[in-house]
Amino acid sequence: MNKADSERMAGILEVMGYKKATAELEADLVLYNTCTIRDNAEQKVYSYLGKQAQRKRKNPHLKLVIAGCVAQQEGETLLRRVPEIDLVMGPQHANRLQILLQQVENGQQVVATNEQHILEDITTARRDSNVCAWVNIIYGCNERCTYCVVPSVRGKEQSRSPIIIRQEIETLAKLGYKEITLLGQNIDAYGRDLPGITAEGRRENTLTDLLYFIHDVEGIERIRFATSHPRYFTERLIDACAELPKLCEHFHIPFQSGSNQILKEMARGYSIERYQKIIYNIRERMPDAAISSDVIVGFPGETDNQFKETLSIVKDIGFDQINTAAYSPRPNTPSATWTNQLPEELKVERLKEINSLVEEIALKKNSRYSNRKEEILAEGHNSKDPNQLMGRTRTNRITFFNSKGPDERIYKPGDLVTVLINTVRSFSLSGTPIS
Ligand code: SAH
Ligand code: SF4
Repeated sequence: MNKADSERMAGILEVMGYKKATAELEADLVLYNTCTIRDNAEQKVYSYLGKQAQRKRKNPHLKLVIAGCVAQQEGETLLRRVPEIDLVMGPQHANRLQILLQQVENGQQVVATNEQHILEDITTARRDSNVCAWVNIIYGCNERCTYCVVPSVRGKEQSRSPIIIRQEIETLAKLGYKEITLLGQNIDAYGRDLPGITAEGRRENTLTDLLYFIHDVEGIERIRFATSHPRYFTERLIDACAELPKLCEHFHIPFQSGSNQILKEMARGYSIERYQKIIYNIRERMPDAAISSDVIVGFPGETDNQFKETLSIVKDIGFDQINTAAYSPRPNTPSATWTNQLPEELKVERLKEINSLVEEIALKKNSRYSNRKEEILAEGHNSKDPNQLMGRTRTNRITFFNSKGPDERIYKPGDLVTVLINTVRSFSLSGTPIS
């Protein structure tokens, strides 16, 4: 989500005539797009800012912008801490960057953190990839997970209209993009704030409806979406993914904890049994589907046994990948005020233990690719070996292969290549192109 916001803001700067600087400490304008999901992400911005504030004291023309979730959370406090900053802007203001910078040009110090109806993009994002693109479909989040800072910094759910989303995808296809990933914090909430009821009395404009609506855009080969919420994930969505050929067989569905008691305290709104049932249903329709997830360890009051319940779900489900995190108390969240916080050492210990299990299981899961032919969408060159391309399987496994194929053919980013997999690692694959 943050990367997508950064690409939109970079696009606006480009339209305004800015060009990418060669180094962070040489730029005339520095914009940090910040994250506050955990404390360590937040701390990074302060260390970067120190150096820039020093430069600004020597060069008053330097413009310093803090965007994103730390900006939203801290607001004016940031200006008090680092008075050299010119502009503090929350994530809902990303599309307003040009207007805000004009206010700075007029000599103002600007704080833009008020709730916004998010404007449709009028500029084009400067995307990092020429092959894969993010497409935001819903902003914000109306859930109230007790550990999570997102609703307070990204605001209420705002769905974009299906027609505008389709237009954006059509434009991307014309520019040569091959893969799109639809984005939302809780993507299953898509359309809740849009009008429309079907003849059968069902809500119109669900994520599933949107998938059917955009699926036939010519030129787009692959469609992904993230992040799914187990509370709202539907059978209809599973059927659509099985039925629609461009929908990739990869599901990112965070479960957060294997303990029903902890899930309740997190206010996630589902039981671990429901989660297991969803995975069972996905695998029944798409046996090879990859499943990835997010997990928090060391939530307040988490006992050894509750942590073990999480470990056993990791084993039972057999995840392809998991983003693990040690619980980090966040400002303005209920669980940050609870008195049963666990010591840092214990959280770190649990994180290490789960990480080694995740790696072991991922390697085991990846072994199924050995000697298999996989369709890889080449995205770019391997940064460590220019003779190799990097791409992904439909199931989102990163795969490296020689750009030279049979008959001296040279593959390039954007090509769909059949690769025979010969090396399997925990989080990536390598192989040889065969057609
Ligand atoms: N909307 C997504 C996730 C958004 S945040 C969802 O509901 O699943 C991404 C991940 O960061 C979360 O899934 C969670 O695992 C992690 N996370 C969020 N708040 C956290 C906190 N306070 N401490 C540690 N990890 C956290
Ligand atoms: Fe945070 Fe929960 Fe919303 Fe995800 S669903 S962004 S974890 S509040």
